[in-house]
Amino acid sequence: MTRRKKIYEGKAKILYEGPEPGTLIQYFKDDATAFNAQKKAVLEGKGVINNRISEFIMTRLNAMGIANHFIRRLNLREQLIKEVEIIPLEVVVRNVAAGSMSTRLGIPEGQVLPRSIIEFYYKDDKLGDPMVTEEHITAFNWATTQDIDDILAMALRVNDYLSGMFGAVGITLVDFKLEFGRIWENDDFARIILADEISPDSCRLWDAQTNEKLDKDRFRRDLGNVIESYTEVARRLGIMKEMPTVIQGGQTGDKAEKAAEPDGEAASNVSKLH
Ligand code: ADP
Ligand code: MG
Repeated sequence: MTRRKKIYEGKAKILYEGPEPGTLIQYFKDDATAFNAQKKAVLEGKGVINNRISEFIMTRLNAMGIANHFIRRLNLREQLIKEVEIIPLEVVVRNVAAGSMSTRLGIPEGQVLPRSIIEFYYKDDKLGDPMVTEEHITAFNWATTQDIDDILAMALRVNDYLSGMFGAVGITLVDFKLEFGRIWENDDFARIILADEISPDSCRLWDAQTNEKLDKDRFRRDLGNVIESYTEVARRLGIMKEMPTVIQGGQTGDKAEKAAEPDGEAASNVSKLH
């Protein structure tokens, strides 16, 4: 592989300089973190699955007219993206109570919300990504009122589309996190587009029949079968047909991964994925 400049290494991905100005290469790692990186593991194959799922979703959203950074997938772990100036917000859309909303407000996990609720968190690991309001966002110039309107409109469109897409394959979209960024059309006009990733790392996805979790909560809560669940999401979406069997028994060094092994049938075809 040719040497190229690493722009940023985060918890789950690495950004490299792209082939042309205004582009980056987004590399999906197998690293999993939770609770502000207090809990860490390597989940073998996760990066490959998330690269594919995020490609699939971003491509669909682009076709729906929801502008985003995805250009094309380059290989199993990398995709070419448009470079944006990330707005330092995590935009969370919730349809069903879960996670921090349930903890904070005492709304039982699984309770369908009266309407979709959007929350903003200030993207700062040192501070633990605190929740903020539009007042903070505009006062500290993270985004303007117009930017917030654009973000809200896009987030709701993403929610409508993804709720339908997942619903059609028997998955409830409980909640998800989006990141947005600015892209300059010319020197003084910036447009906001969707960036980062949409994958089981950034969504809560429950089987619609059983409410079984098919997302990162399997890792956060030591439920086991993390990769198997991510693979199941990809399988239901009709992607990754070349690896229909779930990945089991990989050398992940992860407690959550080892917690449940229904039949010891170590498919371990994950090695083909690197
Ligand atoms: P983090 O640990 O900061 O969440 P990740 O491992 O998720 O990092 O790596 C992706 C990083 O790249 C994030 O900080 C995200 O905000 C940023 N990012 C995502 N898409 C783009 C883009 N199109 N242009 C520039 N930065 C991006
Ligand atoms: Mg991230």
